[in-house]
Amino acid sequence: MRARVCAECGSGFTPKKPSAEFCCHACRQVFNNRRAMRGAQLYDLVMTMRFDRKTATDKQVWSVLCGLASAFRAGDQHARDGRRSWRKLGAALSGIPMAYGKAGDGR
Ligand SMILES: [Zn+2]
Repeated sequence: MRARVCAECGSGFTPKKPSAEFCCHACRQVFNNRRAMRGAQLYDLVMTMRFDRKTATDKQVWSVLCGLASAFRAGDQHARDGRRSWRKLGAALSGIPMAYGKAGDGR
């Protein structure tokens, strides 16, 4: 299989599976842990925007959310040599590997 660059550490590796994005388990774990931590920060903001619009408007939640995203990206530029820290949208929308079922209850 064709060599590629690890989405986490930036090292070159030869994937065993066509869909492999990481050189090793540790890199995949670091990548996904960062996504989970950042996602938790964004979750309350998004839920407030969707279900408590008055508070979201009063507190300028959209601006806060965009500021967080910009801070995440700036951190990526600095610490990750510009490599993206998020999955491609196709993967996120297809449910692979979304951790939550349709019930949205963590199963
Ligand atoms: Zn790696």
